[in-house]
Amino acid sequence: MIVVMDLRATEQDVASVEEVLKKFGYSCHFIRGVERLVIGAVGSGHGVPEGLEMMTGVEKIVPIMQPFKLVSREMKPEDTVIEAGMLRLGGGYFSVIAGPCAVESFTQLSVSASVVRTSGAAALRGGAFKPRTSPYAFQGLEKQGLEYLARAREETGLSIVTEVVNPSDVEQVARIADVIQIGARNMQNFPLLREVGRLRLPVLLKRGLCATVEEWLMAAEYILAEGNYNVILCERGIRTFETYTRNTLDVSAIALAKRLSHLPVIADPSHASGSWRLVRPLALASVAAGADGLLIEVHPNPAAALCDGPQSLNPGHFQELMAEIEIMVKVFNKTLWRGEEENDC
Ligand code: PEP
Ligand code: MN
Repeated sequence: MIVVMDLRATEQDVASVEEVLKKFGYSCHFIRGVERLVIGAVGSGHGVPEGLEMMTGVEKIVPIMQPFKLVSREMKPEDTVIEAGMLRLGGGYFSVIAGPCAVESFTQLSVSASVVRTSGAAALRGGAFKPRTSPYAFQGLEKQGLEYLARAREETGLSIVTEVVNPSDVEQVARIADVIQIGARNMQNFPLLREVGRLRLPVLLKRGLCATVEEWLMAAEYILAEGNYNVILCERGIRTFETYTRNTLDVSAIALAKRLSHLPVIADPSHASGSWRLVRPLALASVAAGADGLLIEVHPNPAAALCDGPQSLNPGHFQELMAEIEIMVKVFNKTLWRGEEENDC
């Protein structure tokens, strides 16, 4: 449930309400809106404590109907804006995160970073830990990859988005990353979700291959319930009967997640399609569906990529796409964020 506090509520009033809610088995999350404080009471508590509505400082009590609570728009009607270095997403800001699937060498990453930066993206992506279907496939450069990512940030100023696969690696990845990615295969790895929930670093949460929108939002709820409210939802395509594409981009999930949740929603047309030729139309469709950003795989030489080459854009194609994204973002009244306000002169 949500306890909406009165405009004149004092700290003491809030503390008294918290005490009552805790006694009833709820944990409290404080959400300070533009005007007033809202207390999100979640957890194993049942029902409304008697007399709560009559307490000083309480304006009203609103039940949340959805199974996801902290994630829902009912809890927080206004968009969450996430900032991490150059990146800004949500509330009218649109950012592009781009780069190779995996960090392969410093040269490969550095060339990618420079293309990504000059084309107008705000963040560099690249996996140092790769969750591969085959145990014999390239698994990533791990610690060395993280070091290369940190060097690429120094060179370009771009924010770094990189994946963590194992709960025991969260600490070392969090030391380097500006945004920590949870991949589709780990969307319901609950210990991992709890671990990144204890951080205050933004988390990019990909939708699982076969996850419903509700399961995806419930996974995000795990992270918020630990106190980390900085979650970016990423639609990356789901498994369907279609085999001509690697996955099927669920465009309706983008629009739906924006309605159901205050969290920013981005789309990943690269993993959704599996083919670089389809990245452009899916990227533009995602902007039209209301996405707050895009995650796109770019490689200096896709034919030589160690991972996901067929879906990676080459530098020229990425540059062309960025010009189109910029136009689309404007049409939908958003600001393409490149780390600073555009000079309108
Ligand atoms: C990736 O971003 O490279 C990746 C592995 O994506 P997903 O988890 O969506 O398959
Ligand atoms: Mn990939």
